[in-house]
Amino acid sequence: MNSPERSGDTAKRKGRLVVVSAPSGAGKTTLVRALLAREPGVRFSTSYTTRPPRRGEVDGRDYFFVSPDTFEEMVSRGDFLENATVFGNRYGTSREQVARLTEAGFHVLLEIDWQGARQVRAAQPDCISVFILPPSIAELEKRLRGRSTDAESTIEKRLGEARDDLGHWNEFDYAVVNDRFDDALDELRSVLLGKGDRNRTDNPACRRLIEAVMA
Ligand code: 5GP
Repeated sequence: MNSPERSGDTAKRKGRLVVVSAPSGAGKTTLVRALLAREPGVRFSTSYTTRPPRRGEVDGRDYFFVSPDTFEEMVSRGDFLENATVFGNRYGTSREQVARLTEAGFHVLLEIDWQGARQVRAAQPDCISVFILPPSIAELEKRLRGRSTDAESTIEKRLGEARDDLGHWNEFDYAVVNDRFDDALDELRSVLLGKGDRNRTDNPACRRLIEAVMA
């Protein structure tokens, strides 16, 4: 994919919206970062959230961190392309940011949950939606436990939510199973480049792979 700054053709063409969703523990954030590093024509949509920043997170880079009042004002002004409550916090995608970047010719990547993905698909049916899955439920549990210092009850709750999230894979156009990182990254890039047919969720081979993950 060419950078719009370098290609006269691409600069005139509007970029596409690419929605990437996954349950926590599927490795979505690492994949998305690697993809952005390799594809100069793709930009990340920085969401707004009411959750407090985690250590190392930077306002305006990872998220725009806002108060619940500011967030609800933005909702009533219609500033969000989509918004949702996830784990008790509010998250939203800036309509203005997405419009500015796509009009400049960039493909814009939204890393959002399935509820937001549903809203974006309804508002912009020509978007590309991709669901990332872990290689198995057992691996998902291992990853969630491995990175958490939370109490057992919190981990159990997160696991339950991750299982519920997984159940939404069928709403997406494409699915990528993140077993081997490099393969998953290649598959995600192929989807972006319009060559991701084997990752289509209506492809029987892809469905069999997903059924194995869910078993
Ligand atoms: P975290 O707080 O761990 O960064 O993200 C928690 C969840 O919120 C993830 O599933 C992430 O994809 C989702 N999320 C992040 N930004 C947005 C957004 O703008 N809209 C929606 N609907 N979900 C988001």
